[in-house]
Amino acid sequence: MLTLRLYSERDARLEEIPEPELRPGTVKVKVAWAGICGSDLALFETAPVPLDYQNPIMQESGPHALGHEFSGYVSEVAEDVTSVQLGDLVAVRPNFADGTCPTCRAGHPNMCDNYAFIGINGGGGGFSESVVVPADHAYVLPQDFSAQAAALIEPLAVAWHAVKVAKIPTDGTAFVVGAGPIGLSVVLALRAQGVSRIIVSELSEARKQLARDFGAQLVIDPREADVVAAVREATGGRGVDVSFDASGIGKNTLQPAIDSLSAAGHAVILANFHGDVPLDVMPFLMREKVLTGSFAYTAEDFAEVRDAVVDGRIVPDALISSRIPLSEVLDAGFKHLLGEGRATEVKILVSPSS
Ligand SMILES: [Zn+2]
Repeated sequence: MLTLRLYSERDARLEEIPEPELRPGTVKVKVAWAGICGSDLALFETAPVPLDYQNPIMQESGPHALGHEFSGYVSEVAEDVTSVQLGDLVAVRPNFADGTCPTCRAGHPNMCDNYAFIGINGGGGGFSESVVVPADHAYVLPQDFSAQAAALIEPLAVAWHAVKVAKIPTDGTAFVVGAGPIGLSVVLALRAQGVSRIIVSELSEARKQLARDFGAQLVIDPREADVVAAVREATGGRGVDVSFDASGIGKNTLQPAIDSLSAAGHAVILANFHGDVPLDVMPFLMREKVLTGSFAYTAEDFAEVRDAVVDGRIVPDALISSRIPLSEVLDAGFKHLLGEGRATEVKILVSPSS
């Protein structure tokens, strides 16, 4: 079967490899759609995992297949599996925890000391024709549900977890810095969790419009307005209860996220930053502001998002900006997103079966 595997920095190869084999407790998923994530681009550019390193859970050396946001149809079911049926449409939760480390035992499996991801450090990947996954990582959707929307459950779960971490009151105000796939997913997750006062800052016209369509009440262009002043004006001078840095640019995005907060407000980081960010820390003392991060999601988060897209509390389809076949994933996907596509695309979905 065709698969995309990462060898080293900017060296990912589309190759023919044998189909993965079913093991007890697993199902084989014929991938329908797989999204390209910002972290795929970072992996492609930096290849941080040495090929000979074996994650303790995956116990597999590289090169590893890429793709951790994917949906598909179940094509084989191990004899001992009852929770998933042949032909089911499923979204795959790609993250794994050992369940035994101190972090897992403290109730944080999303940050397991040995955490692993399908599509990063073993277990196959979504940019492949088929993937074998443990049955409890396959979240079943109604048969007539959109397989494209199902591929968006993974990035939505990242946003869903961040909104839970932020602990925002439903009558509170949220500020989202950056309306890329994750920032827009935060807007959708906020609405689905009952928060309607949402402010977004973003440069791209297309993304600004999507933020409005998804329910942001105010969208600020940082080239046209002082972001912090605009947020304060929109909140009667008080500031917001919660802010999210979903862009990860650096001080230019994180400082406004902090300066826009009310006293005791929470700023949540959910983007990858590359390098140090110098910050004025006095507001944390004088205003008891909190800066926290949000990493991945739990099995509970993933199931909650599956339920929210199925019952229509989240309608994420407009996040999809392009659809391409697996044969074009490098040029029309990765390299495009690292070039001119950065400004025009939101989520590119890849189909291994077209
Ligand atoms: Zn653990």
